[in-house]
Amino acid sequence: MPDISDQVLSGVDASFSINEIELIDTFTRRRSHLRPLPSHQYPNETLIYYGYIGCAPMYPSVAISLRTLAAYRQSHRTCPRFSIQSQCKTLCYLHDIPYRPYLKMQFSAAYDVFLEILHRINQRLRQALKRDTVNWRMLNTCPACFYKLDDEPALDFEWLVSIDGNNSLKRWDSSIYGTTARSDSRTARSDYWIHADAVDKFENEVKSRQTDLRNDDDWEDEPTDPDHPGAFTCVNRWRNAGPDSRKKMFAVFQESGIFIASCRHRFVLLACDMIRSGELAKYPIAIIDKLLTVYGKNGGCAYDIGCAFSKTLANSTLGPRAHDLGFRMMVGAFHGHAHNRRCQLDWHPMYISGTGHTEGEGCEHIFSASNELARSTRHANCFHRHQAIEEHFAFWDADKYAALSKSKNQAVIVILMPQCQVIICGLIIAKR
Ligand SMILES: [Zn+2]
Ligand SMILES: [Zn+2]
Repeated sequence: MPDISDQVLSGVDASFSINEIELIDTFTRRRSHLRPLPSHQYPNETLIYYGYIGCAPMYPSVAISLRTLAAYRQSHRTCPRFSIQSQCKTLCYLHDIPYRPYLKMQFSAAYDVFLEILHRINQRLRQALKRDTVNWRMLNTCPACFYKLDDEPALDFEWLVSIDGNNSLKRWDSSIYGTTARSDSRTARSDYWIHADAVDKFENEVKSRQTDLRNDDDWEDEPTDPDHPGAFTCVNRWRNAGPDSRKKMFAVFQESGIFIASCRHRFVLLACDMIRSGELAKYPIAIIDKLLTVYGKNGGCAYDIGCAFSKTLANSTLGPRAHDLGFRMMVGAFHGHAHNRRCQLDWHPMYISGTGHTEGEGCEHIFSASNELARSTRHANCFHRHQAIEEHFAFWDADKYAALSKSKNQAVIVILMPQCQVIICGLIIAKR
């Protein structure tokens, strides 16, 4: 990257010049005059040549250095609470200027471009490495789960996942303020997401049950009928196991949370938005539909209401396919202890052969970290919320990938393809 002091006012032919642009770096803030190379058509080409991204496409007056954006990205990935606003305030104090809200908009615009550039580079890398085939990420994200060796003994469950919904990543509907959200054509970039249209295909799968208005409190303990000690049902105890008509959400939220699937090693496999609703049955059904399509037979899936949901699934259009593929629902170990004893005997992983030490609560681990994103996504627009969640999940998965091996050679293994990882692990073990 050229040094600005050498290049400013150099003798290159310029079709345009950038005058008095404010260049923001972590520890410096200065006005400068940049001359483009003859090949440059747009100001941002010149800016990126000098290591900056402009805050506007055609007539930028402020530009932020790539290394500042890269440093923010890593800080935000490791500390999801660290928002763009916090970053801008940090820069303001370093540069001895008062914070103004428009600075956040400027930084956000440059950061969006920075992430878009990284995304396109990743796309090209995936093409070159032939990782751009359909469902490549899902099939290769966790080598421990999905990489099969030749003649590997068959397991009771060929794949084991957990699914769950979470309301922390709600997004405020801007029309509540009486304003109309500015249209934004940008959409989510990753294949973590199942589109809302694919989810809505299962909208009418669940026949409405009688609404039980007595139990409208999430935390109310359901009394057991003294005349029928065994009459307790999990449907009454768990709000998300109740009728869909009871799964209301405050109308002020456009997206009311996310519903995800994770593997045993906490890799994020899939996600979809819950939109203006509680945890409706269509979300887990859409997720399971995709899981069955990609992973096929002999799958297991833990869900905090797996016991009640298995009936919903069996009665849905997905039911026969799930049955034919040997798909098995269960209840995670943590939630399982809040189900009754009789339920646990059928659904708790402790009593299901082939689950090993799996507790089936991978989603809770993921949510414990993704909850930290709430403050920076609650009032974001749709695209920025998706972008923040995708960035977080991609980093989370990279972190989990590194943690798969406790070997001292972990750093070497991380950069290798999953297939190579198995070979290297074998060599390390053989050497010992
Ligand atoms: Zn139960
Ligand atoms: Zn896994």
